[in-house]
Amino acid sequence: MLPAPYRQLRERARELSFLQSTTALLYWDQQTFMPPQAMTFRAEQLSYFSGQAHRLFTAPEVGDWIAACEDAGMASDPGDADAAANVRGWRHDYDRATKLPAGLVEEYERAKVIANTAWAEARERSDFAHFAPHLEKVFGLTRRLADLWGYEADPYDALLEGFEPGARAAELDTLFATLRPAVVELLGPAAERSARVPADLLAGHYPEAQPAAFNREVAGAFGFDFAAGRINTTTHPFCNGLAPGDCRLTTRYDEGNFLVSLYGVLHEAGHGMYEQGLRREAFGTPAGMYVSLGIHESQSRLWENQVGRAREFWEHWLPRAVHYFPGLATRTPEEMFAAVNRVHPSFIRVEADQVTYDLHVILRFGLERRILAGELAIRDVPAAWNEEFEAMFGLKVPDDAHGCLQDIHWSEGLIGYFPTYTLGNLAAAQLYRRALADVPGLPGELAAGRYGGLLGWLREKIHAPGRRLASGELIAAATGEPTRVEHYLAGLREKFLE
Ligand code: ZN
Repeated sequence: MLPAPYRQLRERARELSFLQSTTALLYWDQQTFMPPQAMTFRAEQLSYFSGQAHRLFTAPEVGDWIAACEDAGMASDPGDADAAANVRGWRHDYDRATKLPAGLVEEYERAKVIANTAWAEARERSDFAHFAPHLEKVFGLTRRLADLWGYEADPYDALLEGFEPGARAAELDTLFATLRPAVVELLGPAAERSARVPADLLAGHYPEAQPAAFNREVAGAFGFDFAAGRINTTTHPFCNGLAPGDCRLTTRYDEGNFLVSLYGVLHEAGHGMYEQGLRREAFGTPAGMYVSLGIHESQSRLWENQVGRAREFWEHWLPRAVHYFPGLATRTPEEMFAAVNRVHPSFIRVEADQVTYDLHVILRFGLERRILAGELAIRDVPAAWNEEFEAMFGLKVPDDAHGCLQDIHWSEGLIGYFPTYTLGNLAAAQLYRRALADVPGLPGELAAGRYGGLLGWLREKIHAPGRRLASGELIAAATGEPTRVEHYLAGLREKFLE
């Protein structure tokens, strides 16, 4: 029998999971179906729920229960890995949460909903001035949160801790100092080779219904369970694992280019399969929760790029694509492979090729740190973005919709999130390499369009453990070594130069 304080924590976590999954559902509704005039009330509603959840979790008795479990040695009990993960996870989250007053949590939530609506309008019209006051507010509140959470070296560290526990800005500086020149060196020859692939090779008219059906067929084959999830349309794609048996994906369609929604869905389905692979009975506790956003992005980037942009993918899927898009009948798998791996500097991160992708991340990381440090004023963000973008990519940004307004993240307070995409890329490359070595016959399975072996391996190594291990420990346990940039770069060189 587990001790009473632990049972009380489990009960509190259950209550919180009802509030948090309801909040997630309201957020999903806000992004998909909510009429515009509902925004003000929705902001109040979400603010109220966040405040209530915050009060329930930060109540003094919760701290007493956690301390009692720690005193009983549960945080490091090798006999009950889930209880240990839960006590450690609750401690981490409780210490962070109790640094914030509930009023500030409510204000932040309200500001984000309003900012998010303003961002969508501003992006539509490419009107930065419309978004600027909201961005100012969100960054200001985020900086206050960082100061309350506390940090040793850099306010950015306090934000990273919420997305990728243990990550530090100084370590990212070191990583990016290796990654950036290596990618830039690769970019010239890779882009030159890609120039042989006509940019309009797959140009056509792709009304939503056909890509939607094809995307669904591929995501289903990968292993996304549509009896426990669904896909809808939004401005910015996302995945929300809002309850056991209920994982919502969203995507957006480009009628001239079916690849936008296809690779968007494969990315989000990768997130979704992680959510669906968490243990249902542990839902709402750290043991049943994703370990970090970097690991979450490793799952999405693995299915999108390592699997979805591989040669074998198109060898298997081209006939089905032709069924939905008869215009592709004259294409070969090799042409499809070349077209989906066309390397060329472009404006939009989510549509970027694998070689330039991390440059988009590095740009945002630099700007976020300057804004947080008070070195870059919000009104100067577009000019700073455009200047840095041109220096990195050699392209002039035509308007802010293709520049600093493209991503949803800042409007939602996801400041410090972008580096998790690069951490995810690194982990994805390393995990995929290891899976190929570990799973007998995996290359043959993938060539035949069978994904159960790979998904099973990820379920066991990454999904089922939840937060039992920290993200670095999880990668080391799965692959036999800590995350290394070399594997990622070797994979890029192999694909784009050889
Ligand atoms: Zn993602």
